[in-house]
Amino acid sequence: MSSIAISPGHYGVGTGAKDIIDEVAEARKVVDRVAYLLEKEGVKVYKIVDNRSKSQSQNLNYLISEHNSKNRSLDVSIHFNSSGNRTDQPLGTEVLYRDEALKTFAGKVSQAIANASGLKNRGAKKRTDLAFLNGTKKPAILIEVCFVNSLQDVIIYQSKFQEICEAIAKECLAFIAPNLEKEKSNLEQIEKEIQNNLPSIGNSNEQFTSPELKKRLEAILKDKKMIEVMIQKGISEQAINANWMEKLKNGSLSSADLLGLCTLIIEHQIKKCEKIMSIG
Ligand SMILES: [Zn+2]
Repeated sequence: MSSIAISPGHYGVGTGAKDIIDEVAEARKVVDRVAYLLEKEGVKVYKIVDNRSKSQSQNLNYLISEHNSKNRSLDVSIHFNSSGNRTDQPLGTEVLYRDEALKTFAGKVSQAIANASGLKNRGAKKRTDLAFLNGTKKPAILIEVCFVNSLQDVIIYQSKFQEICEAIAKECLAFIAPNLEKEKSNLEQIEKEIQNNLPSIGNSNEQFTSPELKKRLEAILKDKKMIEVMIQKGISEQAINANWMEKLKNGSLSSADLLGLCTLIIEHQIKKCEKIMSIG
C-alpha cells in the first residue's frame, strides 16, 4: 500500500510566519485537506501535527523523529513563506528539496500548484540547510505554498485553496504510486473496448413491435459472457462456423449477425430433433 507522512511546519498558531494570514493555521488546513484527498485514493496517510513542543528546535526534533518512525515512502512538510514587509506584488509558490534526485519531483509540485491556482511558479529550490530535509530518511520535500505577506498571493490562495490541495495530492500520489494512474486508465480503456465491441441495437434498421422484447435483447447484448456462451454452443453443435467467435472478439459482430446465428442454432436443433424422431 502506498503511504506518506505529512506535517504542517512549526508547533502552534503564531510560531511561524504571520502577516495577512498565519502560516501555521493555514499549513494545518492544507495538511488536513491533502491528507483527506490522499486517503480517498487509498493512500495510507500519517498526519503529524506538533501540539507539544515549546521551541523551534524541539519542534524540528519532534517532526523528524515522528516522520522517521512511520512506514512511508514520502515525507512532505507544508509551510508558508514570508519576505518581510507586506506587498501588493505576487510572489508565488516554491518547493524545497535537498537530494538531487528530488529536483524533478519538487519542480512538478511547484508547477502543478501554480497551474492549478495562478500563483507565480518560483519552482524547485535546492536547500541543504533545513533540518526537516536533512533529518528525514525518505524522499522529502518542503512546500512553501505562498507568501503570507503578499496580498496577491493570499487572495489567490484563499480562492483556490481546494485546487492547490488537489494539485499537491495528485503530484504526491503520482510520486508514491506511479503505476496507479496508468492502471486506472488502462482498465477504463479495456472496459470501453469491450462495450464498443458488443453488438448494439438502435443503430440498425430493425424495428421491435414489443418494447419488452427489445429491453430483454438489449440486456443480453450488454452481457458479453452470455453472447460468448451462445456462440460457443452453436459452434460446438456445428450449427455455425467457428469464425463467428473471432468476429465477436474483434468487435465486428453486428446485432443482425447475432440474430441470424441464433436462428441457425435453433434451426439446427429442430432439424436434429426431427431426425431423431424420424429414426424413432
Ligand atoms: Zn515555515
